[in-house]
Amino acid sequence: MITQTSISYYGLNYVEHAEADFKEMKAHGVTQVILAVTEFDFDFWRPNIPAIVDKAHELGLRVLIDPWGNGKYFGGEQVSKFLQDNVENRQVSALTGEKLPYACFNTNSYRDYFKNFCVTLARECKPDGFFWDEPHYAFPKGIASITGGVADDWTCYCPVCRKRFEEYYGYPMPKYMTNDVKLFRWREALVVLSETSKALKEIDPNLEITCCVHATQNGYYVSEYRGYDNWDMVGACPYFDVFSTTIVNWALPEDFYLDITRRTVAIAKKYGKKSERWLMGYYKQPKDFSQVAHWVDLAAKEGVDRLAAWTYRGGYGTVVGAPDALKLWDTIGENYRRVIAKV
Ligand SMILES: [Zn+2]
Repeated sequence: MITQTSISYYGLNYVEHAEADFKEMKAHGVTQVILAVTEFDFDFWRPNIPAIVDKAHELGLRVLIDPWGNGKYFGGEQVSKFLQDNVENRQVSALTGEKLPYACFNTNSYRDYFKNFCVTLARECKPDGFFWDEPHYAFPKGIASITGGVADDWTCYCPVCRKRFEEYYGYPMPKYMTNDVKLFRWREALVVLSETSKALKEIDPNLEITCCVHATQNGYYVSEYRGYDNWDMVGACPYFDVFSTTIVNWALPEDFYLDITRRTVAIAKKYGKKSERWLMGYYKQPKDFSQVAHWVDLAAKEGVDRLAAWTYRGGYGTVVGAPDALKLWDTIGENYRRVIAKV
């Protein structure tokens, strides 16, 4: 049964404007707002963030803080102050040695920065939890292409990762993605999120952590190798409460959506977590809007606990707005109201 219906929300500045938006979310059947807090928000709008969280609570919405695009390590379109302020501690291409515009989350520099960002917000804002939004290594993604072609390049080959690899395995880090490299990447990728989640639960044991990973096939032939594609390793992390997988484009086959949904529920159940599936509420819309109700029903039937959609008002007014953004938002709202009424 669907017990939470979430919508992401960014551009938060003024409490009274957020209040009007929160009321609109309530009218759309939303129970939980995923508050996308950027590094600029944290640096500049800090005084208003706790007041915005309070306002959401006052209106009966749960609030999860999403460190949206932080370090460009998480998904998201906004820019990163960490990258602006640090020329080092970036992910490095294994093949070309180039520094890339992605923070290396295996460096102590970024790990400290990220943990401070989250624990500060936890102390100041008293949210209901945090949302880890598509964390990933820069490369590869091509491995998940429809042809199953192999991506040649990968990250991270920065001095910190190389030193840690060599200390652990006793030989220099290869430039080819071997099994040792794959395991190293999976293990290290979980450290920053585990340590921060643990620190958050030490502040407040009731803080709920959702880890949302890319919705990939991860089959025998095709996998993304973005660091969180080993769903068993992610699901087994004791500090995560909700196992979530990202948006599937409406144009993809229903079988693909079903496969992702079933595997998401299976991993969540296996490790005693709640499951969450995302709906595409921006950028693209279904050819036939009745697909929204159909996919919502499929998720409910497969035992998904929570639904979420990116983003408020279908991305209206942004470059990633759906063609009929407000209609998409209203359609998601109708379905949220429909499923949440059964709780
Ligand atoms: Zn690195």
